Amino acid sequence: MLEGQPVSLRVRSWYGLRAELDVEDRLWHLVRIGRVRLDHPPVVNTFLRAGLREADRLRLSYLHELGHLQTLPIALGHAMALLWVGCRRRRSLPGWVGWILAVLLAHEATWELASESYIVLAGREAYRETYRRHPNPFSPFFWAGMALLSFGLTAGLIRRS
Ligand SMILES: [Zn+2]
Repeated sequence: MLEGQPVSLRVRSWYGLRAELDVEDRLWHLVRIGRVRLDHPPVVNTFLRAGLREADRLRLSYLHELGHLQTLPIALGHAMALLWVGCRRRRSLPGWVGWILAVLLAHEATWELASESYIVLAGREAYRETYRRHPNPFSPFFWAGMALLSFGLTAGLIRRS
């Protein structure tokens, strides 16, 4: 199904949200939820799928976008928890700007980590085999960097609230 030309996939998350995923090309991805279009550049997919065969690149890119949908409750729960524990504290204006940037970064790192982990959990052997055949130099940096940003920033934000 994912060989050849990219196609639009209609999917349904485990909690009932329906969406349409479009990995249009190497420069643009689209997730459509009802009338809401979430066009975005494929930042993580570009680096993590570098050097893969086209079919593998498409398969893992679609799964990554689906992973974002499937792990949306985790991402929202994480963001709500950070906002809940941190938003009552008094801060200067630069303090608020720094706090908001740190929350956004922790949220993004957590969601990317959750989404890519979803692919691994959905098919550990296929994932390992794909990257064994085509080793990716960015992969260790992605996992280490995202884990550090996600867990490190989250712990730091909770400790300082
Ligand atoms: Zn992503």
